[in-house]
Amino acid sequence: MLENSQETKTDLSELGEFGLIDHLTKSFAPKLPSTKKAIGDDAAVIDFEDNQCVVTTDLLVEGVHFDLAYMPLKHLGYKAVMVNASDVYAMNGKATQITVSIAVSNRFPVEALEELYSGIELAANIYNIDVVGGDTTSSTSGLVISITALGTAKSEEIVYRNGAKPNDLLVVSGDLGAAYMGLQVLEREKQVFKANPNSQPDLDQYSYLIERQLKPEARKDIPPLLKELGVKPTSMIDISDGLSSEVIHLCKSSKTGVNLFEEKIPLDPAVISVCEEFNIDSTTIALSGGEDYELLFTISQDDFDKIKANPNLTIIGHMTEENEGMHLITRANTKIPLIARGWNSMEKEEEEK
Ligand code: ADP
Ligand code: MG
Repeated sequence: MLENSQETKTDLSELGEFGLIDHLTKSFAPKLPSTKKAIGDDAAVIDFEDNQCVVTTDLLVEGVHFDLAYMPLKHLGYKAVMVNASDVYAMNGKATQITVSIAVSNRFPVEALEELYSGIELAANIYNIDVVGGDTTSSTSGLVISITALGTAKSEEIVYRNGAKPNDLLVVSGDLGAAYMGLQVLEREKQVFKANPNSQPDLDQYSYLIERQLKPEARKDIPPLLKELGVKPTSMIDISDGLSSEVIHLCKSSKTGVNLFEEKIPLDPAVISVCEEFNIDSTTIALSGGEDYELLFTISQDDFDKIKANPNLTIIGHMTEENEGMHLITRANTKIPLIARGWNSMEKEEEEK
């Protein structure tokens, strides 16, 4: 998405490092009272007053985490912010500031970085996050983006992975598997395009899936929703690798087992139909596909009535004693051990075929 999209190509050397930083960050005026000093000094200054500070970081490497053949740079910038914000929401916090560090080769013109930063800016505006710093350096080959997110929460509000208890209900926001199937559709189109560069794909019926892959939205709404419902999760994690591996993380951290019910896993109808088309089992995709950025959490049974009617939330199982193990209860009512097959392992399997 680098080659054809821009007419003008300004060489990075024309601006130099400081000119480039100024150019990319000139529109990042701070919005939040907690941002005391943003870009332009040796360090940013943040004041959370009586609240705790939550910090998380993610590194995205071209060719490993993204492919610019079908990932427009604006989407990449947006997604890079989402990946980090999602981790803050998974602590039941509010994402407030980010720093953005990039390593970039001279194969990228200034206009390409403008695209990347327009996605970062869009996400920062929609999610009410200030960009308060970063670092800029050259790379000999691909593009590397590292974002660090800061967030805030009251100490009694923070939710860790390790608080689930036997009999707690396991709950997930939204629906699962769409981002992975969106990637499958994009990969297929890339192959078609390689074979016939004049082909014009009709991707309308896949728009939800592709959007979930290219423009994921972190669940900023869930921590305030839970607060409004009067529910504090006992444990929480975001779904970046796939449901099964995240469920296993909660169980291992909390020292519990789990019964996860296949029939309860929320799937969008578009996921069901594309899985039929690709001849893949939709439960496998929900369990092992990645990048849904939904929140997975446990709540006390006492809170069941508070969440049961909420369309954003689905109860998919319950925690058990650790010695009962971690199981998937299939539609046929058989109990099979839950195994972690994140999306990386799926890709390896596909390569082996
Ligand atoms: P230093 O020499 O202290 O590393 P820099 O010259 O790299 O400072 O950065 C100057 C200012 O611009 C700092 O506030 C830094 O946080 C910010 N900055 C540098 N690169 C980026 C970037 N890619 N995105 C956002 N802010 C950046
Ligand atoms: Mg620097």
